[in-house]
Amino acid sequence: MATTVARASAPPGVRRSVRILGVRVDDVTEDETVLLADALIRAGGRHQVVTVNPEFVIEAGRNPVFAAALEGADLATPDGVGLLLAARYLGTPLRGRVTGVELTQRLAALSAQRGYRLFLLGAAPGVAQAAALALQRRYPGLIIAGTFAGSPDPRHEPFLRQLIVAAQPHILLVAYGHPRQDVWIARNQPYLNVPLAIGVGGVFDYLSGRVPRAPAWMRRAGLEWFYRLLRQPERWPRIVDAVPRFTWAVVTRGRRG
Ligand code: UDP
Repeated sequence: MATTVARASAPPGVRRSVRILGVRVDDVTEDETVLLADALIRAGGRHQVVTVNPEFVIEAGRNPVFAAALEGADLATPDGVGLLLAARYLGTPLRGRVTGVELTQRLAALSAQRGYRLFLLGAAPGVAQAAALALQRRYPGLIIAGTFAGSPDPRHEPFLRQLIVAAQPHILLVAYGHPRQDVWIARNQPYLNVPLAIGVGGVFDYLSGRVPRAPAWMRRAGLEWFYRLLRQPERWPRIVDAVPRFTWAVVTRGRRG
């Protein structure tokens, strides 16, 4: 049995990647992620970005379709303080976090600058639209190609594909929560003609103001997850399931190749 931590081969443009319980995580900072996203959009084709956190890693261990979507992603950013702690414990420290809200805001700023068109798919009815308006207020000139709540139900896919193809966005943000959003992108992107698609979880809820964000000091201290738990107690069962499993798995299995 190997005793060293597995290292993943990094995708183009990424200096270094690591594996945490088999899931590839790219050691990228927020600035690098924005530069890479810009390069991927300019390159054309189609690209998927996933924002990996401990819940993703646990889910990937029991959901091969989700694991394949993560493995196939062009960029896997490190989200979640637990992931950073695990990486450090395993001797493969990551340089920083790239959170969904900050990444979305940075991509909106980039889009306003470059004329990229953004499509916001998912969340409860009206939330994506409210999030888009908030982004446009903050980044004047930002072009919103479309917003739609829709559903991750495969029966809705033909309609959603048509809607997105007609809107011609450069960046598609999908907020159906993991694993559905990331699997949805992997399955549908071949039909969408969108250069960059990202699963963003609850980001529209925050941007729209529907769910308050943690105060800055809590975010700096890596305690945003705790604040989310206080504000959204329905998240408890998920966290109680994922955090001990993740910690135990990292300590007992994390160093195997
Ligand atoms: N959501 C949705 N349709 C669904 C399930 C979820 O639009 O069938 C949205 C939900 O309204 C929320 C987001 O997906 O905006 C999930 O956010 P969460 O923070 O739970 O994402 P996760 O952390 O699971 O990736």
